[in-house]
Amino acid sequence: MNVIYTDNNATTQVAPEVLEEMLPYFSNQYGNPSSIHSFGGNVGKKIEEARSKIASLLGASSNEIVLTSCGTESDSTAILAALNSNPEKKHIVTTRVEHPAVKNLYEHLSRKGYRATFVPVDKDGNIDMEYLLKNLTGDTAMVSIMWANNETGVIFPIPEIAEEVKERGIVFHTDAVQAVGKIPINLAEVNVDMLSLSGHKLHAPKGVGVLYVRKGTKFSPFMIGGHQENGRRGGTENTASIIALGKAAELAAAHLDEENTRVKTLRDKLETELLKRVPNCIINGDRGNRLPNTTSIAFEYVEGESILMMMDQYGICASSGSACTSGSLEPSHVLRAMGVPFTAAHGSIRFSLSIYNTEEEIDFIIEKLPPIIERLRNMSPFWQEMKKKSA
Ligand code: PLP
Repeated sequence: MNVIYTDNNATTQVAPEVLEEMLPYFSNQYGNPSSIHSFGGNVGKKIEEARSKIASLLGASSNEIVLTSCGTESDSTAILAALNSNPEKKHIVTTRVEHPAVKNLYEHLSRKGYRATFVPVDKDGNIDMEYLLKNLTGDTAMVSIMWANNETGVIFPIPEIAEEVKERGIVFHTDAVQAVGKIPINLAEVNVDMLSLSGHKLHAPKGVGVLYVRKGTKFSPFMIGGHQENGRRGGTENTASIIALGKAAELAAAHLDEENTRVKTLRDKLETELLKRVPNCIINGDRGNRLPNTTSIAFEYVEGESILMMMDQYGICASSGSACTSGSLEPSHVLRAMGVPFTAAHGSIRFSLSIYNTEEEIDFIIEKLPPIIERLRNMSPFWQEMKKKSA
């Protein structure tokens, strides 16, 4: 059975060109990049090439790129570095819809004496700017706000937010794990102090990430050890994956147009056709302000997990809008923050496409999914009740 992979916000396939680029660093090119001999030094040079390609994708300088192990490490490093630089300030700000990499760290910090503000979003997933600005005070140590949401794809106005936050002299970090490679980012024009990205979301392997640290930003390392990364992150480099990420960054820049044209067209077709064929379904998130590859669709009165299991029988991979907490399925905090009704949040499915998806695959989903929803609804007491009421 063919796999139809539409779960690219969870992780992506390693691009064939990326795999080819990294393979020698698992076999004959095993030198330590810090070594004085040229065998290791040559690997070091490749790492610097990769750093420069990553910098170029972001509109940054090479020396502003700190290589890490993942998006989560980048987020933790940024937030803790900002707090270390402002030890007298005890207020931190983020949104209600962040990835757990930020959300759970903020919750942890709020148990350790920090006062955390979680800025709300509206029903379309857009940030409440007024609430954000009202809550920036002289005691605010840092603000961390994601560039694009992993569940709905909704994009926050990071350039505007960065201006407001920086104007008040507050450190600003953005988790751009879902945005990089999908929308244009030019840090020469956007005033963020720090930005996180993750290799496995843009066709590089898992286990490599980046923290961009703007020149002049006060910084303290999270991983304290060797002199690697100019003393900003100790530990021998994950050479093969870093070199892979360099290649992936180069490809991402080259494919940005395709993401915003062909991939977006496929996403729009999937959405439009499903809305046409399936009654009682709703798009979660602002349709005019989203990543080009993402759609979160609520199929009312059915359970997302059942839809995923039935799609799995056809090889279709996607995600639901629920998280399993202590054995029960809770709608995600993102959909709850948007006020998506329980009956819709439970049946929410996220499709996230990539340049590797084809129109045939989208047509296959459009053909297979409506009968799945119909079958599940026929078994759903909520659906029967709703039909009775509306009859
Ligand atoms: N931030 C966002 C918005 C994400 O979507 C993810 C992963 O899904 C992460 C952070 C964590 O990245 P990583 O898996 O590389 O730790």
